[in-house]
Amino acid sequence: MRATLMYGAGDVRVENLPDSAVKLPTDALVRITASCICGSDLWPYASMKPEDGPARMGHEFIGIVEDTGSEVTTVKPGDLVVAPFAISDNTCEFCREGLHTSCAHAQANFWDTEPEEGCQAEAVRVPLADGTLVKLPVTADSALIPSLLTLSDVLGTGHHAAVAGGVDERTRVTVIGDGAVGLLAVLSAKRLGAEQIILMGRHHARTGLGREFGATDVVSARGEEGIAAVRDLTGGHGTHVVLEAVGNMPAYEQALGVVRPGGVISRVGVPQYEEAPIGFGSLFRHNIRLAGGPAPVRAYIEELMPDILDGRIEPGKVFDTTTDLDGVPAGYQDMADRRSLKVLIRP
Ligand SMILES: [Zn+2]
Repeated sequence: MRATLMYGAGDVRVENLPDSAVKLPTDALVRITASCICGSDLWPYASMKPEDGPARMGHEFIGIVEDTGSEVTTVKPGDLVVAPFAISDNTCEFCREGLHTSCAHAQANFWDTEPEEGCQAEAVRVPLADGTLVKLPVTADSALIPSLLTLSDVLGTGHHAAVAGGVDERTRVTVIGDGAVGLLAVLSAKRLGAEQIILMGRHHARTGLGREFGATDVVSARGEEGIAAVRDLTGGHGTHVVLEAVGNMPAYEQALGVVRPGGVISRVGVPQYEEAPIGFGSLFRHNIRLAGGPAPVRAYIEELMPDILDGRIEPGKVFDTTTDLDGVPAGYQDMADRRSLKVLIRP
């Protein structure tokens, strides 16, 4: 079967590899019908050392179950399924609390660190299939596939940012980042009723989609100028919640600058730093809380899917490019160059 490998920064290849197959009684084999490239794939694409490769790539997919191990009960061959970016059993004490990204099962893992499997491929072996896979009530050629694919990661991650930040009808919200997660954080804040949503981003087509998703204001300036612009829009106080969907230190500093006293900075952009200001002059003085982490998207699929099926939300609009597996290496470069917002893969 064909699959995507990253050999190092800027070096993505699609190669023929041995077919994935069911190995354990709790596995399923899924033929992938839709996958995509993630903004988080761009971090290794920018910096991966050749000695750390080659690495299998891809952590978002929809596909058709082809085979199941003897203990799998919730899906069967022929079912169309979606998988979150984390493998989980959906039964341990953390999963039962909705924190599937901290699943205690020995086989729980992120696809990105699962050896010899990846979702930018023709097929994938799914460990803990009963916990990980969710059956979809449509066919593989449905027009809803792009939106349903966002349940794998970006919609659930944007939703998690908003939930972890405590977004509701009384909150003003700033979203930092106009990538797919930032834009779906806007959609999620709107869905949860936020009264004002300020999107910080400078890419015109993307902020336009952000307005369509519910942003009430767009601030393209960064740094002190961007902070001043957000404060101008909020009576000088900043917003109750800041959804940080970038992950670098300038984005964190931006968040500190626009959060209101008593507010919450909710981070879902993977932090590219370990040390950051948390002391008196940053968080402590005004009772500001820091929240967020890897989104337990498995916990949100049942809540979010009906809104997609009913057409109330259309998160699949973040896909502005579609390719087959041959186009994956160019897709990485297009996303790195910001020519594509998010690339849909039809293997
Ligand atoms: Zn678990």
